This record gives sequence, C-alpha cells and structure tokens, in this order.
Amino acid sequence: MIHEAYEEFFGKSSERELVITYGRLRGYNAAIRMSPSRIEVRASRQWKEVSPEIQKGLVQVLFARLFKVKQKTVSMDLYHHFVRSLPKVMPKKHNHPVLEESFNRVNEQLFGGLMQRPNLRLGKGINRLGTYEYTSDTVRIAEYLLEYPELMDYVMYHELLHKKHQYKEGVQRTTHHSAKFREDEARFPRAAELEKELQKLVQRQKGGWFW
Ligand SMILES: [Zn+2]
Repeated sequence: MIHEAYEEFFGKSSERELVITYGRLRGYNAAIRMSPSRIEVRASRQWKEVSPEIQKGLVQVLFARLFKVKQKTVSMDLYHHFVRSLPKVMPKKHNHPVLEESFNRVNEQLFGGLMQRPNLRLGKGINRLGTYEYTSDTVRIAEYLLEYPELMDYVMYHELLHKKHQYKEGVQRTTHHSAKFREDEARFPRAAELEKELQKLVQRQKGGWFW
C-alpha cells in the first residue's frame, strides 16, 4: 500500500525503503520521518482497521507534508472526508461536571445549542490553557482554569471553535486561527478584556503559552 501511495503521488518508485508500522499513538494520529535510506510512517493501531484506500490518502498527506508539495489525489480527498467525519463517530467516553456546565453555557449562548458535546477532560500541564484534539474529539482545559469560570468559558469557546472550523489541510500540529476563526472568537462577550486577563493569568504561571 505504501509503495502504491508513493508511486501514485510522485509518479515514480521510491529510492528509499518505505515502511509503515502501526503502534502506540493516540486516536487516529500518524507521523512520518525520513532518513537517507528510509521513509517510515507510524500510524496508530486504529488505522489498521481503516480501508487501504483511505490509508493511502493518509500516507500521501504525510508525503505532502514531509516534502512540502502541494498536490491532491483522490485518496487524499477520501482521507480528508474520513477525518472530517471522525468527531461525529468518536465515542464520548470522557466528561467532567464543571467542564460540562461550561460547555453547556457556551453552546447555548454562542452556538445556539447546536454543538455536539465533545469529550471533556482536564489538562494537567500548565503550559496549555486548552487544546482540541480532532482525532478523538476531545477538548482539554487546564485544571487551574476551573477557578475562573469566565476565563474557562472563553477558552472552552476557543477550543470549540476549532471543532466548528475543523481544519484545512493537516490534522495534527497545524493550528488554525484563520481570519474567520478570529472573527468568531471576538463574538465572545468581553473577548478583548478576557484575552488580557488570560495573559496576566498565564504570566503568573510557569512556562510558555501555547494554544
Ligand atoms: Zn487555538
């Protein structure tokens, strides 16, 4: 499959050895790396169950990322379609009572109650206020935000916007704060002030601020 993916993508066969392994990655994550003699794709175990055509798309998306090539194939379209459907089908195993209240407030006020609840979990680190993981449909909110309901809601809103806006190209790693995203984000009441308050709060915490 990986050879076929390569040949279809580059129009020639690879001079390097091509390897795909399935292992301990979360959700539907995957990664690629290259050495002078070898290109290795690592995919989570879940990928094993996915149809070869979609897996081929995954591998090609990783090739495109690795070689910084803009190219589209039918398999890549299938892959994107598959990944876009993941939040809907991923099981909702995780919840947290305070985060759920926050989610309900934000959903009611800013999404007209139309947002489907994602997995909700606390983040243990202090470097990230919040994250949204597309491939498991999970919002994580930093635990220390529980004490600041308004800021928590604001971060919750930010992460839910990631779910709403989905993604353009890559699934992991790329952050997607498009102009439209920022426009939406500013609809949160007192957004600009809260942004400043968050920054102050973060300055009081150790480490950088990535979200
Ligand atoms: Zn973000």
